Parts: sequence; structure tokens; C-alpha cells
Amino acid sequence: MNTSKVRVRFAPSPTGPLHMGGVRTALYNYLFAKKHGGDFLLRIEDTDQTRYVPGAETYILEALKWCGIEPNEGVGYGGDCAPYRQSERKPIYKDYALELVNKGWAYYAFDTPEELDTIRKQAEAAKMPNWQYNSISRMTMKNSLTLPADEVESRIQQGDPFVIRFKMPRNEEVRFQDIIRGWVVFSTNELDDKVLYKSDGMPTYHLANIVDDHTMSITHVIRGEEWLPSAPLHVMMYRAFEWEAPLFAHLPLILKPDGNGKLSKRDGDRLGFPVFPLEWKDPETGNISSGYREKGYLPKAFLNMLLLLGWAPSNNQEIFTLEEMIETFSLERIGKSGSKFDPEKTKWFNQQYLRNMPRRALAEMILPTAKERGYDVCVEYLEGVVELMLERAVFPLDLLEGTYLFEDPKSYDEEAVSKKWKKEESGQILLDWSIKLQSLETFNVESIDTAMKSFLAEKNLGMGQVMPLFRIALTGVLTGPGAAQVAALLGKEFVTPRIQKCIETLG
Ligand code: GLU
Repeated sequence: MNTSKVRVRFAPSPTGPLHMGGVRTALYNYLFAKKHGGDFLLRIEDTDQTRYVPGAETYILEALKWCGIEPNEGVGYGGDCAPYRQSERKPIYKDYALELVNKGWAYYAFDTPEELDTIRKQAEAAKMPNWQYNSISRMTMKNSLTLPADEVESRIQQGDPFVIRFKMPRNEEVRFQDIIRGWVVFSTNELDDKVLYKSDGMPTYHLANIVDDHTMSITHVIRGEEWLPSAPLHVMMYRAFEWEAPLFAHLPLILKPDGNGKLSKRDGDRLGFPVFPLEWKDPETGNISSGYREKGYLPKAFLNMLLLLGWAPSNNQEIFTLEEMIETFSLERIGKSGSKFDPEKTKWFNQQYLRNMPRRALAEMILPTAKERGYDVCVEYLEGVVELMLERAVFPLDLLEGTYLFEDPKSYDEEAVSKKWKKEESGQILLDWSIKLQSLETFNVESIDTAMKSFLAEKNLGMGQVMPLFRIALTGVLTGPGAAQVAALLGKEFVTPRIQKCIETLG
């Protein structure tokens, strides 16, 4: 395999629905891969069986598909490094753990969970919280560094449970250059001896992640900032294996809209916006969390919003096609500090994308819902609806908000009526106006406007005395698209009966 080719991976754990931060990580990986003609892999990191959530993996695949940022290799896509699900790679990890033991970079530890628990409690009681299994304490524990070799051998022979821990050296400096953060320096004294291989025969995240990144020829690890504390261990592990480490880029956090802390999975609906790309039903509780897709966000608008949540172009361009994203994206232009999520701006993006969609496509998009609502309409009519409603719409279904475009107004807005309807004259004015309308041969916005002008002149009336009445009669309200536009769309055969009905109702 050509190792100079860019290969990046998105490596979620199927512990629940994908958070929008996860989608952003996937997006940045995708863009980086495409920009450099590389590969974008999807690896499922499911070594922690206790946190496995049914449906999560399918959700991840569906979410990436909806967003249009599909991997070209990985779970669901296949490839030369298959399998890409870590639980299916289980047999390969043990040898790597043993390799580190043989090289003196790892050791067997036999301490039982109960023993570890007791030590932690004793340490707490002695006012030394955060006890760690590390380069100092390991010498007082039950492991292959402290027990005689023959005892270690016989324990393993007789099947005593053990874990394999990384032997973190003392007094060493770990440094690596993060593409986003620059030099990151850690002292090994701050790091503990992490478990690499568990007593159940499963690798931990750390071992599986490093082994897979290496065997899958990953060149760049682009992931969330929450993994930065693990990076020094990973760098040390590459050193121990004598493998070339990939380059790292740790993405800044996505913050709550008020900037107070990380935007978490729990924040979503609580703060009035989704945090998940797709709706999610918790298999255990049955609770539903809303999704961008179901709320009516267009996937491209969602991606565009995520693009700018952490990355910025050199100019102030805001709207990007996927091709433009690929062309302009660079890891160097990702900021170091967290980005506040802005739900209003997210709506704005949706609005922009909606406005740029072909009218016909929008009409087709809302047709099924229109039918469901019992409106007897065709797609051509809906194109007209789109034309009238687009200006104010944020979501596709907002286009159906003017129910008066589909049925007679059920009532007339009281405030509008009390302001504009004069008992003595309004009925007569409307009646005369409807007679004028009936006489029109062509019935479109232009002819209605012209008719209105001559009507006002003939009757010596002002626009403000007629237009609001016309609006009320057609729509029941004073807001929304212009009355002539509404009338032209409805057609003459619907307009005159509506005016008639209004006169009868309001007197
Ligand atoms: N499995 C980790 C996660 O759930 C992946 C971290 C990484 O990309 O190294 O985010």
C-alpha cells in the first residue's frame, strides 16, 4: 500500500446517536481526504461492549449518507483492510499486546478489580485522591514486574485473569506537533499505565486505535479535542512499536450558544434545537431526540453550518458548495479555541439554501405533505405557492404555512377586522371590487394591479381603503404575500366566492 497517500478515518464508537460534533469531525476528515485525493475510512470502535447501543452503528451510516459525506472504505463499504469493525478484529490485537510485553514496554498485571478498589479507597482516606497505577505505584502491585517469573508463568498457565498494561517510562518528555495546536508537550510522569488488553480478551480503545491506525496506513488523525489527553500515550505507543506516528489534528470543542461549556448530547432539545443529525429513539427508554433532518434542515445547509464551526476561510465567504469546501478547506485554518454553536445562524443557512433550490424541487418536496393534509393540488400549483412563500420560509414546510392558498380562510383575524372593516362601507367596496375582478379576461398579477388602479380612480378611493379588505377576504389576515399574488394563484373561480363569503360573514 502506498503510504504517502492521505488516508484518514472517522472512528466513532457505537454508544448512541452521532452528535453534531461527530458529524463535524467526519466532515473535516472527508474534506481533507478529498482535497488531497486520499481515502476516507469509517471504522467502528466497539471494543467496549458494555457501552454498545443497538442501532447506533446503523444510525452513524445513515447520518453520513444523509449528509452526503460517505466514506470510500470501511464498515458498510468494504476495502483492503477489512474488517473495519473492531469487535471483528479481536484476534489480531493480542499479539500486538504481547509484542510490547516482549519488548519491555508492557507487562501483565494480576490485581483484581476488588484489590484496585481497596487501594483507591485507602488512598482517598489518606487524602490522596486520584490514585493511579503508574510508574511509581506499579512496583507495589501484583504484576510481572514485581512477581517472580515462575509465578507469572504459572498464573498465566492456570488461567488467572490478567490485563496487560503499558509501562510508561519515568521522567521523559513526550512532544508532538499537533497541526492545529502546534507543539504539545507532556511529561510521562503525568501519565498512568493504561490497560491495553483486558481480561476478557478485548483490547482497550488505546491499543485497538493505534494498531488499526497503523495497519490501515492512516496518515492523519483528525479527531475531537477530548482525545488530546490520550495523544501522549498514543505517541509513546508508536515509539514502543517503532512505528511512524500519523500526524495529529485535535479539533476545538463546539460550545453551547452562551459559550458556557461543551455542547453535550443532553443539551439539544433542552435548549430548543437538535444536536443530532437524525432523529433518535433511545432503544431503552423510548425517548425521542430531535434531528436536523426531521426538523426540515437541508443536509447541505447543515454541513455548511458545521464547516464554519471551527474552520474559517481567508475571506468572508459563508456559503460553500461541497466542491468549494473541498477546494478551500485546510487543517491550518481551524481555530484553537471552542466555537459557540449559533442556532439562529443555523436557520439562516437553511433559509439561504432553501432560496437557492429550484422551485420545482421544492414543490416536489412539499407535495407529499400537502396531500397528507388533504389539499387537492398538483406540483405546478405548488410551484406557485413556493414563489409566494419562499421569502419568509426557513424550512420546506413553512411553504405550506399559508393555508389560505389551499382552502378558504376559516376565520378572519379579529384585530385586522376591527382595524380595517368599516360596517357602513367595506361590504359595498368589496362587492364592487369583486364585480370588477369578474370582468377581467386575463387574471394575473398584472391585470389585477391595473384593475385595482382604475377601480381606485373610478371610486375615488385610496389603496388603504381597498387592499386590506381584499387581503382579509382572501387570506383572513393582513400579513403574508400580496393580495394580487394570492388572487392570481388561486384563480378567478376561487376569488369571487371568497369575497362573497367575507361580505356575508362580516356584514
Ligand atoms: N472511538 C473514538 C470516539 O468515539 C475515536 C477517537 C479517535 O478518533 O481516535 O470518538
